[in-house]
Amino acid sequence: MSALDSIISDLVVANRILAREDVVDAYGHISVRNPDNPKHFFISRSVAPELIERDDIVELGLDGEPVREEKRALYLERFIHAAILEARPDIGAVVHAHAEDILPFGIAPATPLRPVIHSGSFIGANVPVWDIADRFGDTNLLVTNMQQGRDLAQCLGQNNVALMRGHGFASAGRSLIEVVRMSVYLPRNARALLRAKHLGGEIKYLRQGEIDARNRGYSPYSAETWRAWEYWANKAGCSHMLSKPGSATAPHGTAKKR
Ligand SMILES: [Zn+2]
Repeated sequence: MSALDSIISDLVVANRILAREDVVDAYGHISVRNPDNPKHFFISRSVAPELIERDDIVELGLDGEPVREEKRALYLERFIHAAILEARPDIGAVVHAHAEDILPFGIAPATPLRPVIHSGSFIGANVPVWDIADRFGDTNLLVTNMQQGRDLAQCLGQNNVALMRGHGFASAGRSLIEVVRMSVYLPRNARALLRAKHLGGEIKYLRQGEIDARNRGYSPYSAETWRAWEYWANKAGCSHMLSKPGSATAPHGTAKKR
């Protein structure tokens, strides 16, 4: 299997995982940068993530438009991916989803969403909230052009996750594994924080030193990381699609030790 074939397979697996873990439903999507051409990325055409097959994957440019003729409908919000990948050369994969548990934190500014559990550390210490109305007034809240996408990317800045007021979130990782992991644990962290708020009293967030220690110990291609990917893929019924040894979710030329 070529590196490009593997990355397409991994993208299909990533879609199925996000669906199985309830991060996405009929809506929401994930993209990955083309390792051979950083100005292009892969994403599905407009299909629910759980149902995506290899043939559904299309290649888009950083303007959000297909690089070859495409008659099938595309995701309206593909500009989220194009704008973040354009703004962040360090980023290889992007998720956008409407996971219910994170929504309160986009509409209640008094309680910021920050890491409170060890697996939530990867969302980063600061999770900004983007409000489309600040610059675009009354819209249908969807990101449907590059101008809106770039405004969101600017709000994301160098952070890993941005919440979108009344809508969902966008997350950015170096690889498919990293962004899937972050997007699975983001709602879990939000649930823990919401429940703690119900208990009342002071909330103990992770300390900056703890977040830093977690990041120092994390390798996107370690045995521990692969363990989660394999588990999630198996649970989503697509372990037969895993590309072994060495998944193409690693950036081009990266040593893939497990
Ligand atoms: Zn959306």
